[in-house]
Amino acid sequence: MLISAVLPCYNEDKVLAMTYSELSAEMKEITDDYELIFVDDGSHDGTRAILRQFAEKDGHVRYISFSRNFGKESAMLAGLQYSSGEYVVIMDSDLQHPPELIGQMLAYARQGYDQVIAQRDRTGDKKLGSFFARSYYRLVDRLTDVKLTDGIGDFRMLSRKALNALLTMNEYNRFSKGLFSWIGFREKIIHYKNRSRAAGESKWSFRSLVRYGVDGVLSFNNKPLRFCIFIGAFAILISLMYLIFLLVGIIFKGIDMPGYFTTIFTICFFGGVQLISIGIIGEYVGRIYYEVKRRPHYLVDETNFSKENKGQ
Ligand code: UDP
Ligand code: MG
Repeated sequence: MLISAVLPCYNEDKVLAMTYSELSAEMKEITDDYELIFVDDGSHDGTRAILRQFAEKDGHVRYISFSRNFGKESAMLAGLQYSSGEYVVIMDSDLQHPPELIGQMLAYARQGYDQVIAQRDRTGDKKLGSFFARSYYRLVDRLTDVKLTDGIGDFRMLSRKALNALLTMNEYNRFSKGLFSWIGFREKIIHYKNRSRAAGESKWSFRSLVRYGVDGVLSFNNKPLRFCIFIGAFAILISLMYLIFLLVGIIFKGIDMPGYFTTIFTICFFGGVQLISIGIIGEYVGRIYYEVKRRPHYLVDETNFSKENKGQ
């Protein structure tokens, strides 16, 4: 097998036919030695039925249907684990990742680049959204030990070598953008013009974006923990100085009415510092809790892969 394409799909019945035909046409131009792996991430629309149909009439199509929605990260992981191509391309199923780039990606991959990454520009994005996204990337880039770049997502082609490296990381809380960057290897970035999705709607809500954002910061470092220590130390220092200041006052002027404002301020300030710190620690503890359970990343309900096929 030369190329595997991995496409996570969650409630994509409006766009799948389009994606399938564009992608198949592109693949056929490159080679006949390809597979399209659609991972149905617990959709509750017609996605599964459509995939079944594709698979019936086209031997290149594989599909994996989860028992429920496990999230895009798990869907990608499943597709990658089942793939058998020498090169694997990961892409969204809403045609936001243009299939016509695959030929170019393959050319670079064959030159020995282990990760060929497609970077989008921000054409057509909402101004405010892209401002927040860009600031977020800058922040994460600062905070964490891995490098993240604006406009770089999951759309990329991996060599078998890079893929095997990626699959050695079996953590439960997966943050692919970080994992891709963590494995390293030779990278090549190509650029493309941003596209809006061909049909259907985005699965990201504000809440899921925030959750994803927190994942990104916490998965790759323990700097937030260090930050708690730093804030704590700073607060202690300030309060010590304040104590000395009060003592000096008492010695020279005697005891007068202690300030109501400062007392309340202190209580509030330290209350805040402690809550933030406990929250951050709680996030890490929660993650440890999920990791030690060693639960599977996903459960397969239905697939046209035979058992032996998995993990070639
Ligand atoms: N997706 C998924 N599981 C989810 C959410 C999304 O497999 O729980 C897939 C979705 O079908 C699409 C890709 O992830 O192929 C990107 O999702 P979407 O287009 O909604 O995100 P956006 O492009 O708006 O960032
Ligand atoms: Mg999309």
